[in-house]
Amino acid sequence: MAKYTGPACRQCRREGTKLFLKGDRCYSDKCALTRRTGVPGQHGQGRKMMKEYGLQLREKQKAKRYYGILEKQFRNYFEKAASQEGMAGDNLLIMVERRLDNVAYRMGIGESRREARQLVRHNHFTINGKKANIPSILVKPGDVVAVKEASRGTEKFKTMIENTASRAVPAWLEADKENFTAKVISMPTREGIDFEIEEHLIVELYSK
Ligand code: SF4
Repeated sequence: MAKYTGPACRQCRREGTKLFLKGDRCYSDKCALTRRTGVPGQHGQGRKMMKEYGLQLREKQKAKRYYGILEKQFRNYFEKAASQEGMAGDNLLIMVERRLDNVAYRMGIGESRREARQLVRHNHFTINGKKANIPSILVKPGDVVAVKEASRGTEKFKTMIENTASRAVPAWLEADKENFTAKVISMPTREGIDFEIEEHLIVELYSK
């Protein structure tokens, strides 16, 4: 499966905003964005003000990087979102929020979505008691996402859940951190997604 393997901090610097791709480091003085604010690359400094297309492109890249999704799959999400009732931008964000790797991260597993995705791939999760190792599975209300019993007792998972105790769990998930489970109690709503993004710019870009 294709994946981005370049430096995580470079992606934040490129977008000029924190995408929280490296766990604790993102909240510390070591964050590359705290130390350097310019965009990476020889020509990064002093770029001209972005035109409409540039703004749309950057917003799309920001969303893809935040959720760790590559272009083809992100585009597919958009096509589906646009064919559903309601606002395409809202539908798109709600869809990517429902991904299993994002749910794992939101319930406190993994320092970053990247780590959560890896843990999903390595067979540490179940949905409704059944093995779930595909990060792009979309959860739905009533689903119960859980860390596999054999993994719960390991130091790695115990430490992880302790370290992420202060991470806010969205209202559409009912997390039971002690038991390493999260129940999906409703669909996410746009208002409940704490990601600063202007999704209408993504819709405009893909609708050209
Ligand atoms: Fe982004 Fe985190 Fe790196 Fe800061 S430390 S630039 S938020 S990945």
